[in-house]
Amino acid sequence: MSAQAKPQDKANQKYETVIGLEVHAQMRTETKIFCGCRVEFGAAPNTLTCPVSTGMPGVLPVLHRKALEFSIRTGLAMDCKIAPFSRFARKNYFYPDLPKGYQISQYELPICEHGHIDIEVEGATKRIGITRIHMEDDAGKNIHDPSGVSLVDLNRTGTPLMEIVSEPDMRTPEEAGAYMRKIRTIVRYLGVSDGNMEQGSLRCDANISIRPVGQVEFGTKVELKNINSFRFVERAIAYEIKRQTSVIERGGEIVQETRLYDTDRNITVSMRAKEEAHDYRYFPDPDLVPMVVDPKWIEEIRAGLPELPDVKRKRYLNDLEISEDAAAFISEERATAEWFEAAVDKGGEPKSVANWMMGELTRRLNDDKLSFANCPVIPIKLVELINDIDSGKINARQGKTVFNSLYDRCKSMIEESPVKPSPADGSLAFIGKVEPVTSRATSSVIREELGIKQSTDTGTIEKAVQEVLDKNPDEVERFRGGDQKLMGFFVGQVMKATRGEVDAKTVNEMIKKKLG
Ligand code: ADP
Ligand code: MG
Repeated sequence: MSAQAKPQDKANQKYETVIGLEVHAQMRTETKIFCGCRVEFGAAPNTLTCPVSTGMPGVLPVLHRKALEFSIRTGLAMDCKIAPFSRFARKNYFYPDLPKGYQISQYELPICEHGHIDIEVEGATKRIGITRIHMEDDAGKNIHDPSGVSLVDLNRTGTPLMEIVSEPDMRTPEEAGAYMRKIRTIVRYLGVSDGNMEQGSLRCDANISIRPVGQVEFGTKVELKNINSFRFVERAIAYEIKRQTSVIERGGEIVQETRLYDTDRNITVSMRAKEEAHDYRYFPDPDLVPMVVDPKWIEEIRAGLPELPDVKRKRYLNDLEISEDAAAFISEERATAEWFEAAVDKGGEPKSVANWMMGELTRRLNDDKLSFANCPVIPIKLVELINDIDSGKINARQGKTVFNSLYDRCKSMIEESPVKPSPADGSLAFIGKVEPVTSRATSSVIREELGIKQSTDTGTIEKAVQEVLDKNPDEVERFRGGDQKLMGFFVGQVMKATRGEVDAKTVNEMIKKKLG
């Protein structure tokens, strides 16, 4: 049973779902896995090809060392055993986008095996086994022109892929979605893939079966091919559960097959009977030498692993005591986590930093289609602003005004400069570049220029509060009669009368004192 199923659900449910995912992640190398052609999205058709990637006879593929390194890196991050000896195999099949007549993949000796990753679903952590990670080359692309002509673009042939195969450990669509998200987070942290789903850098095949609750044997599985969004993976599986349940309820049998998810109609449709491994006539690729990986190299790669998202999340929860939601949000992307850590390093109070990051800052970044990897406001500037609020120089409301002005200025200063922070760097290197460019935009400069300050003079506050109470005798009566909601009204009126230049908390306390 899935970790999050409630007991009453279990009682009602007759069938249990079993899910295993095969995720394909495109590796972030500049050139292809077995030749020197560039890997690039969106280039003119058939411009990124050579005799190796077009499968001419007599050519010899040579493995890109980086592809092997990236696979080992991923394997180590997922606690896999790295094979001391592994090799490539030919997976034979015919298709117009595969001029070689076979895909170069790994079969009986993959580079990584027996790992796991942890996912979080509804507050519980669940471990999902990783059966294997193997390397392979991508095929080209068939383009079916509306005029009825089919064209082939071979630019994608030879693009290095990692296939990450899970154990059949997932039980709900939500777990499958969480698993795919976690894979994306990890490969992005490691810098081995950009995880860009719109461009197909991360896609998955979902295997689904159902079985009566309590039955040990798995049911017959159906494979859903090539799903390229988290939302679709969940929807496609949810549909498939319903479909399989109704087939069985009607006394039918599930046939092992490959189906496609139709995103427009939210249904799955049969594509072909599932082929078995023996249909592919796998055999070791005679053109590529087996790989013997030096244990010293593995240890070097291990030593270079970044702190991973799960470790960061737990550290934020335990040491910095931010909320679960905040820890999950901040640890999801490496740049976000590093931005946060840089702010805390500069003395930012962790909860305040997290709140600003999740609130106003993310809102502005989203509007501008930016991220923490190219955020115009560098961490120290937010820390200074938070300090100005905490020390009472300005109140929270004024802080928002100052922040937005700070953001606008930093953004336009960067736009006018030659500095172009790019999120592709995947690091915080941009902070150093942005710092000199935006040095004149700070919380204190903006506060002074805009004349934003907070009155701490209790005499002023008291006078304003008294005036508001005098002007609203009916409301005072109702408040005294128990209508607590009116507090917001009083505070709002005082803020209006003082043009928001006083501390709301002090106003609040003063009203309470005056009205008993
Ligand atoms: P195939 O050889 O058909 O590709 P594999 O044994 O390699 O099958 O498994 C492919 C994927 O399907 C794996 O992720 C695995 O966890 C999953 N899987 C295997 N059996 C089942 C099942 N009965 N129900 C759901 N998923 C399954
Ligand atoms: Mg398989």
